[in-house]
Amino acid sequence: MILVTGGAGFIGSNFILDWLAQSDEPVLNLDALTYAGNRENLASLTGDARYTFVHGSIGDGPLVANLMTRYQPRAIVNFAAESHVDRSIHGPEDFIQTNIVGAFRLLEAARAYWVGLRDRQEFRFLHISTDEVFGTLQAGDPAFDEQNQYQPNSPYSASKAAADHLMRAYHHTYGLPVLTTNCSNNYGPFHFPEKLIPLVIHNAISGRPLPLYGDGRQIRDWLYVKDHCSAIRRVLDAGLPGQTYNIGGWNERTNLEVVMMLCDVLDELEPKADGSSYQEQITFVTDRPGHDRRYAINARKIEAELGWRPAETFETGIRKTVRWYLDHPDWVRNVTLGSYRNWIAKQYA
Ligand code: NAD
Repeated sequence: MILVTGGAGFIGSNFILDWLAQSDEPVLNLDALTYAGNRENLASLTGDARYTFVHGSIGDGPLVANLMTRYQPRAIVNFAAESHVDRSIHGPEDFIQTNIVGAFRLLEAARAYWVGLRDRQEFRFLHISTDEVFGTLQAGDPAFDEQNQYQPNSPYSASKAAADHLMRAYHHTYGLPVLTTNCSNNYGPFHFPEKLIPLVIHNAISGRPLPLYGDGRQIRDWLYVKDHCSAIRRVLDAGLPGQTYNIGGWNERTNLEVVMMLCDVLDELEPKADGSSYQEQITFVTDRPGHDRRYAINARKIEAELGWRPAETFETGIRKTVRWYLDHPDWVRNVTLGSYRNWIAKQYA
């Protein structure tokens, strides 16, 4: 049994589906079901005895302690977080509570449980983090490797950086077998349409503007979510406690390039009735405050030491992603009702 936190979110739900497609080891999913948590993502597991869902917070120490005593997981994979930079700018409090205080409570519960285990060597605590903790790069700077200094620039990345430091400290001080992964931007199925790629697909097919911040030349490094999941699995299987692993797809693109490519794929897979291109919907909007210019991940360590490689190129991953959104209009409709609309109106006001 493994305990997955935040498993109803974008990456967590992809991870659980992949995990149970490849093994019979049961999964316990602890998720607070914030706006980003969606049990529909895991509807295909209804009735599957290998899957258990618990509605609750990683910040609830007694609950987490009870779950660990009852289910005896051999590992924890911590996805639970507030994850959207723009929301962290509008309201940082939840980011501090979940990403820092929540991570601390989870660590404390894990430490108490781990101390009581007969075979402590086998236990793993895998914390999922981001490349944004490293700050921003200029054109020509080498990509971030595991030795880079932490220089977080947004409340989101600062809260993730704080959690990463706690992870490091719990290994160094108490010996808890913690591993941390720092991954670049993910894209793929079940991605909430507030982030660039699903937002652009959703707006394009709804005939809405495709918003691009500033000049659209910010560079991000993209990885298909299933490749992130395979990397996490690899780190859980073979990574060394106390180590951190950068995960990325060697796929640096400007936001403008990403949006143009999405438009090209949509023009082909879902041509507009009037024959015009989706590119005509692109609209430049005021830049995000403190917007990092460039992120790039050097993934050599996980490739050389753990033999991991991404299976998708950006081109194949983007096609799969567009296809998935076109094939799942009900999912998109359900997640874009109610509070989603209020948020999008506020963000682009
Ligand atoms: P997401 O926002 O889609 O999902 C987060 C999930 O955590 C949701 O299901 C939410 O309900 C749950 N959650 C929030 N607070 C909780 C709490 N207190 N207790 C339990 N569950 C809680 O996020 P995501 O994009 O799937 O990201 C998952 C993790 O991966 C995050 O830690 C994020 O920082 C990290 N990460 C994301 C990316 C990316 O591109 N999305 C890249 C690198 C790292």
